[in-house]
Amino acid sequence: MSSTLSQGGLSYDVVDPATEQVVTTVPRTDVAGTDTAVARAQRAFETWRQVAPADRGRLLHRFAEAVDASVEELARLEVRNAGHTIGNARWEAGNVRDVLTYYSAAPERLFGRQIPVAGGVDITFHEPLGVVGVIVPWNFPMPIAGWAFAPALAAGNTVVLKPAELTPLTALRLAELALDAGLPEDVLTVLPGKGSVVGQRLVEHPDVRKIVFTGSTEVGKKVMAGCADRVKRVTLELGGKSANVVFADAHLERAAASAPYAVFDNAGQDGCARSRILVQRSAYDRFLELLEPAVKGVRVEDPASESSEMGPLISRTQRDRVAAYVPDDAPVAFRGTTPDGPGFWFPPTVLTPVDPQDRAVTEEIFGPVVAVVPFEDEDDAVRIANQGEYGLSGSIWTRDLGRALRVSRGIEAGNLSVNSNSSVRYSTPFGGFKQSGLGRELGPDALHSFTDEKNVFLAAE
Ligand code: NAD
Repeated sequence: MSSTLSQGGLSYDVVDPATEQVVTTVPRTDVAGTDTAVARAQRAFETWRQVAPADRGRLLHRFAEAVDASVEELARLEVRNAGHTIGNARWEAGNVRDVLTYYSAAPERLFGRQIPVAGGVDITFHEPLGVVGVIVPWNFPMPIAGWAFAPALAAGNTVVLKPAELTPLTALRLAELALDAGLPEDVLTVLPGKGSVVGQRLVEHPDVRKIVFTGSTEVGKKVMAGCADRVKRVTLELGGKSANVVFADAHLERAAASAPYAVFDNAGQDGCARSRILVQRSAYDRFLELLEPAVKGVRVEDPASESSEMGPLISRTQRDRVAAYVPDDAPVAFRGTTPDGPGFWFPPTVLTPVDPQDRAVTEEIFGPVVAVVPFEDEDDAVRIANQGEYGLSGSIWTRDLGRALRVSRGIEAGNLSVNSNSSVRYSTPFGGFKQSGLGRELGPDALHSFTDEKNVFLAAE
């Protein structure tokens, strides 16, 4: 595959988490292969940055159309590689199309400024950075890659993308679609391989001018330290432990009906998962009564089935990790079911009552486990929601608009929704507070994070 580079014929197996069968084998890029890819991307940058803005936009639009024509194919690939439900996987492929479409209009809107000064004219330019390294986790391989490569390419950069070792297949296909759509060679390169090899080399490489890293806070800190050493620009999208805050005055039926989706979607492997449900004490028992049938009704089944609402976890290691949060004596209030047979399944699980210091309440589990915790009043809700190192997302359920605004302003998180559990829209900014990240993706401003502002003064005489 022209978009990948490995040396010495090294390769590894990619496994279907629903069947535990090998899907295919992909090349494992090494340091030399990474360096070659960066050198090519650097050469490609010299021409890509010169492509007229309208033409660059047109090419990105064609790339979006190629993705659109391949939504079903990409979705089926993701079902097999990541165990995503077919419905979710179609949304994810469609999201890449939409992000590309959105940023395809950007090259012609990368406006500088004219600033009034004495003795001449002062203008600013948003210059592309060069080669951008994009390092992606395994939980949403397509959208997370697209959120970085679409604006990076629109701003005139070239991209070297390292997918997670477990989930390289859709990224490899997207790189092929980019070529089919007419993007020049080496403008978007995909390098499957290990984080400690390819990822680390991208961080260290002097010709990689920016890193967009999505993954764990632990690895994100290392990436940031590596970037600091070289004063390299970095955007970090890291872990989360988001709260779903339900006030007694909320539409409890709606809040309870959507709470399983908010945490069990993608089997809980979502940085925005609302893995703590905080419920006002006076509505606590009623909410649990409503939640129980909703959780037991989650259809955990073959992700390729149209009716599947939750697939398996990504790997045996991840399932063991999640299971460690639910020991035999854990306070399981109720849980859903899983299919028999092979696959890395774990049932949707609700814990309560839970000691506030329990790991299941304080740590990111990244699996289908949620703790339901009571609170007294607004101040208490905000205090509990803000506990811990993360601040990525969250929801607030209330019919009181003033309260919705007060609590939204009080919670330290980058992405909140009121009477909804949605997290991401490609046209609005996305990112974390505290140790959930640094910088923002998506929306109109993300484009500027892939440029450096240059100021030019022209003397009037
Ligand atoms: P991870 O940190 O283990 O790996 C993420 C990526 O970094 C992978 O591609 C990996 O190969 C690479 N990597 C590993 N070591 C590296 C190193 N030393 N240098 C450079 N790259 C390296 O994360 P994961 O287990 O793949 O994903 C789960 C985590 O991602 C969770 O913590 C989750 O919250 C987070 N996440 C955050 C968001 C967000 O938008 N904030 C979205 C999705 C996932």
